[in-house]
Amino acid sequence: MSKNFDINTLVRPNVAKLTPYSSARDEFTDFEKDMVFLDANENPFNSDANRYPDPHQVNLKQHLSSVKRVPVDQILLGNGSDEILDLIYRAFLEPGEDAIITTPPTYGMYSVLANINNVEDKKVLLTSDFQLDVDGILAAANEKTKLLLLCSPNNPSGNLLNQADIERLLNEFNGLVLIDEAYIDFAKAESWSTRLQDFPNLIISQTLSKAYGLAGIRLGICYASAEIIAVLNKIKPPYNVNSLTQTRALQRVLKQAEVEQEVKTILEERDALMAELEKLDIVSKVFPSDSNSILLRVDDANKRYAEFIELGVVVRNRSSQPHCENCLRITVGTPEENKKLIEAFKKLS
Ligand SMILES: *Cc1c(COP(=O)(O)O)cnc(C)c1O
Repeated sequence: MSKNFDINTLVRPNVAKLTPYSSARDEFTDFEKDMVFLDANENPFNSDANRYPDPHQVNLKQHLSSVKRVPVDQILLGNGSDEILDLIYRAFLEPGEDAIITTPPTYGMYSVLANINNVEDKKVLLTSDFQLDVDGILAAANEKTKLLLLCSPNNPSGNLLNQADIERLLNEFNGLVLIDEAYIDFAKAESWSTRLQDFPNLIISQTLSKAYGLAGIRLGICYASAEIIAVLNKIKPPYNVNSLTQTRALQRVLKQAEVEQEVKTILEERDALMAELEKLDIVSKVFPSDSNSILLRVDDANKRYAEFIELGVVVRNRSSQPHCENCLRITVGTPEENKKLIEAFKKLS
């Protein structure tokens, strides 16, 4: 299907038709020249943030482009990946008509956004080892399922999805395939961004909220074909990434070595933590992880969750999710925090 893929058949008709808002900063952007800017009703007195931000985040995108090796016109930035996902739903999914496919247990926002946008969420569960049921997904697909959401490494299970399964879905699923790579920097795998040229229906989302340590600034990154990015640009709020975020994100993107060092430490801590957890009596299973979190099965998740809170440690109770009976998800913390976690576990056992 990728051979004769035509994005125009997937764009909502109202989106295809609309004329986007043209902001003052769209019409004139050359800050290099010594110009007097009286076009946007801003307060003229300098506060470092009195001017509207660059609506296209050119500087930040250029740096991301060279670090991530994706052309600038194949990058969209948003107010967290949450905004990126919301834009994708609103661009391609007709409320009351279209559907998505999700693969629980996975990130909860995909379903919430389906409800907000009034599109059906067809759930095809992962297998018990948290891999894709490719035949089940293809069987659930029809002309209304315009978007398939995959999360790799997956949240809450922490594992990478099999590459061959994803590749088959990219080839055979008759719609857009979004791969959420929020945790890719922790994984021993390349980003799917290296395969953008092969799959015109591929959309990738990443974020600075996890490995890059900037959850507070809200920066989500989307990679796709230039055609898909152009559709999303058309409907995004003009100033969706504020100037403080653009500045802070750029500083961090320029410090790759620092990010890599922190990731390395987190992964060493994760592996040490997993070895400790394996030894505990109340832990019956520690699932493999390609992420910065560990899913584990305990004797009684609800009880242990409450006991942890009493001991001052907050973990995530995932026991209501499919295949996650009595499972807790634990984020890898600093060495000191991880010590406290193990001490708390020992008080429980
Ligand atoms: C944490 C997380 C995100 C991050 O979303 P932001 O809005 O960028 O903070 C996205 N997807 C998954 C699967 C996550 O776990």
